[in-house]
Amino acid sequence: MAFDVQSLIPPLDGPMCYRPSFDIHAIVAGEQRMTDGQFLELYHHAALPDLGRWAFAAVSRHHPEDYRTYVIDRNINYTNICTARCTFCAFKRNDPGAADAYTLDRETIYQKIRELVALGGTQILMQGGMNPALPLSYYQDLLQGIRQHFPAVHIHAFSPPEFVEFSRFFNMPVPDLLAKFKEWGLATVPGGGGEIFSDRVRSRIGPGKCSGEQWLDVMSAAHRLGMHTSATMLIGHIETIEDRLDHLARLRQRQDWALANALAHYSAFIHWTYQPDNTPLDRKRKWTPDSGKPFEFDDGRTVRLADAHEYLRMLALARLYLDNFANMQSSWVTMGPKIGQLALYFGANDMGSVMMEENVVSSAGTTYCLGEEQICHLIRDAGWIPAQRNQYYQVLRRQDGADAPDLRPRKPGIFPLRQHKITPQEAGAYRAISLRTWSSRVEPAASPP
Ligand code: SF4
Repeated sequence: MAFDVQSLIPPLDGPMCYRPSFDIHAIVAGEQRMTDGQFLELYHHAALPDLGRWAFAAVSRHHPEDYRTYVIDRNINYTNICTARCTFCAFKRNDPGAADAYTLDRETIYQKIRELVALGGTQILMQGGMNPALPLSYYQDLLQGIRQHFPAVHIHAFSPPEFVEFSRFFNMPVPDLLAKFKEWGLATVPGGGGEIFSDRVRSRIGPGKCSGEQWLDVMSAAHRLGMHTSATMLIGHIETIEDRLDHLARLRQRQDWALANALAHYSAFIHWTYQPDNTPLDRKRKWTPDSGKPFEFDDGRTVRLADAHEYLRMLALARLYLDNFANMQSSWVTMGPKIGQLALYFGANDMGSVMMEENVVSSAGTTYCLGEEQICHLIRDAGWIPAQRNQYYQVLRRQDGADAPDLRPRKPGIFPLRQHKITPQEAGAYRAISLRTWSSRVEPAASPP
């Protein structure tokens, strides 16, 4: 018998831990847009279960379907040589002569795509490093070669910081570069390098990388050309809640513009938490709620890591605030499978990608890896039918038959769904501090703007 997930939604007019000073029901119903003041009020005062049920009601309005989605793609990091010096990054190599600096040749990339196709994958997510040694012809050959050899594979590649650097390397305006890349086979642009748009944060964690406004301009140019993009946010480093809100506000504003004026728009929002291992930023002092002081931006000298509670809190608030975004992804890669699954109850409607390969967050000590079988199991276990999608969030296959990846008969004695046991490295991802202890001490604003 099908499980009716709607039955899990608690009544919105039921008991709440925190009663907002505004009409939260109108926001959940999409009748009103959340203001910045209302966002801050909820961040500082609402309890996580309340945020979860409001966000769940909102995501159920956007997605009343009986399924939740995932995509099979492969992350291909074609080079780790980079001109930028992001302090949260353990992946880049600034010295091209370093023993472990690399740039993948075409054949290696083709082989990775062949493996993806053999597993039923439909797209690649390809990002660098911003490598000044690569000529424009490298990208042309790569894109045209992939298009020719793998015409069915969707190319989701090259984030805005890369385009801004390409513009400098090749002395060509970003819109012209985007148009060329599109002609060569690029289909959509991933939201990598979004981090936090605020200049004061960005200048400290991402030296050598494009500004927040440049990031947004690249995406608007892609939208004008009819290329969908995704939007991202990195939390749990030196940013304040006001910096996160500013980030979301600028995304919402640009999405309004794209929906009204452009041929394409942001198809999804994804946020994740900073993973500290092996990164320069990890050497900064850490804020703890036990200090008795609120977290403040002190020229970026103090880091406030984000734990699962903070991740879910931001997901729920983003779902309520970004009313013009259709899709929100769960970040199980950084949060682990169980929090990733729980995210479906806090505003996410998509489990993101089955992970064949990941090099960036794994360089920073996070090593979660789930196959299609496990992703399907997590979705079904949460009450929905798993469905494989493409990059446009169109369903390719509902996994509701006996041959679904998580329902196929197994060999006796094998319990593959339990393979994602916690390793010491994974346990490290949960060591972040609880942030709510301090926030609950803040007095409510008398009258939110
Ligand atoms: S995050 Fe990206 S842009 Fe920044 S240093 Fe790492 S590879 Fe380069």
